Order: sequence, then C-alpha cells, then structure tokens
Amino acid sequence: MRTIQSVNEMQSHAIGLRSGGQLIGLVPTMGSLHAGHLALIDIAKEEADKVIVSIFVNPAQFGPSEDYEQYPRVLEEDLEKCRERGVDIVFNPSVVEMYPQGYSTFVKEEHLSAGLCGVSRPHHFRGVTTVCLKLFNITRPDIAVFGQKDAQQCAVIKKMVTDLNLPTSVLVGPTLRDADGLATSSRNAYMSDVQRQEALSIPKALQIAQDMVQQGTRSVDRIVAEITHHLSLHRRVRVIYAQVVDKETMEPAREIEPGRHIACVAAWVDQTRLIDNVEL
Ligand code: AMP
Repeated sequence: MRTIQSVNEMQSHAIGLRSGGQLIGLVPTMGSLHAGHLALIDIAKEEADKVIVSIFVNPAQFGPSEDYEQYPRVLEEDLEKCRERGVDIVFNPSVVEMYPQGYSTFVKEEHLSAGLCGVSRPHHFRGVTTVCLKLFNITRPDIAVFGQKDAQQCAVIKKMVTDLNLPTSVLVGPTLRDADGLATSSRNAYMSDVQRQEALSIPKALQIAQDMVQQGTRSVDRIVAEITHHLSLHRRVRVIYAQVVDKETMEPAREIEPGRHIACVAAWVDQTRLIDNVEL
C-alpha cells in the first residue's frame, strides 16, 4: 500500500493509472476508520481495480464552534486498517496542501443542501462539495463510494456530479450498525457508556417509525410525532430535527410512499452531535 501526501504526486499517479486502463475507486473519509468505512472500501474493491482512500479532516466543513479540533486523528491505526483491507493508496494531504495560503474557491449546491443539516450547519455542505470536487480532480475516480448514513451528503454529492457533468459514478453503501443498533461513527468515541445508552434511542426511534409504516401508517405527522416523543423520553438527547424526506430530492414528504422516503434524525447526546436515518 502506498501513502501519498502531495496533491501533485497523487494526481499524476491517478492519471497514470487511468491511462493504463485501471478503474479507480475512491472512498473519501475523515479517518478514524470504523466498520462503516471498511464496508465502503469493500464495495470500492469490488467495483474498481485500484482503491484510493482519502483521509482528510476537512476544516471547510466544520463551523467555528464545532469539533474540528477534537475530531479524532489516528493515522497509524487507519493505515493499518487500510493495509489489512487491501487498499492500494491512502491519500492523506495536510490542510495547507489542500487549502494553500490565499485559497478562495468554493463549490456550493444550493437546493438539496438547504434543509436538514444545512439549517444548523449553514456552511457544512459547501465544505463537503468543495473538498469532494477537489478530491475527484486529484484522484480521478471512475467511482466514488459514500455511506447512506449521511443521506443528505449522498444526495448533494450526486447532484453536484450531475450538475457539473463529472465523469464519476457515485455508489452508496448501506448504513453499518454496531450490534446494539447504533450507526457506527467516528463521533461515537466522544460518548461515555451512559451517553451511548441514551444515543440508542435514535436508532430505536427510527425503528419505531419503520414499524409504523410497515403496519400501514402513512401520515408523516404521526411518524414524526412518535419519533420526537420517543427521543424526548431520554434526558441527554436534544433533537435538532426529525423529518421525513424524499431520499433523492430531500424534499419534505407529506404522505409516506414506502421505498421513496427516509426518516432522518439529528440530535445532540450531551455534547455529541449524531445523525441517522432509515428507509421507510
Ligand atoms: P466520515 O469519515 O465520517 O466523513 O465518513 C466517510 C464516509 O463513510 C462517508 O461517505 C460516510 O457516509 C460513510 N460512513 C460513515 N459512517 C457510516 C456507517 N455507519 N455506515 C456506512 N457508511 C458510513
């Protein structure tokens, strides 16, 4: 496995691979790799000849009072996991390599990124689309793999790829969960055992929503009321939003059409911000 920190080196290597007819798969991450990331790597390995994992904690997608500084950085462990998983290249540039002095160009999707997380994190998706477009230009992927856990991110990236005619196919892997139901996330490391128990109310509330739809409920109001009621029973949990939206357009749903809509939750568990969603 090769590790590359330089943008120029990564780009010329990727161009070389492509001209040699190799299909490139990219898995963009912020590191602190967990089973959810590894499952995306497996998808990339199945679909591409060479797999590049980028590890970059992207300052542009964090707000001023968010957890950029605390975000876990465990490069050696991540490299070991990538090696074991059969990754070909890890691209882990520094912040100045990606955003040199005087950097001033940003890409912004203006519709799908406005709701849900876009309300409480107003510059987040601008940071995500900017870094992803840069990573696509640097690593030249035929496919890029993202996780359904960040459903809005998937929709925004797909829209950017369509709108800007990028020659990359976006694949979405399912949300990976720990045995207790909590979606794996680098931010889970912030929580104590007690907080984690409270956090389980999030997948539980989403499971209740799924069950209601299975039993015939189609009213979005009733589903959202049930989700928020369940979360309100947990005193460390503060809901940022609980919404049912179309999984492609992120438009709020009126009445549930099974297979088309997802229930999304963002909540604070004390100081940890978690998101999750399920298909209804
Ligand atoms: P992150 O390192 O948190 O920026 O995530 C990198 C990629 O991994 C994104 O495409 C995420 O959607 C994806 N991801 C994070 N957690 C999970 C999970 N539990 N299951 C599947 N994919 C995930």
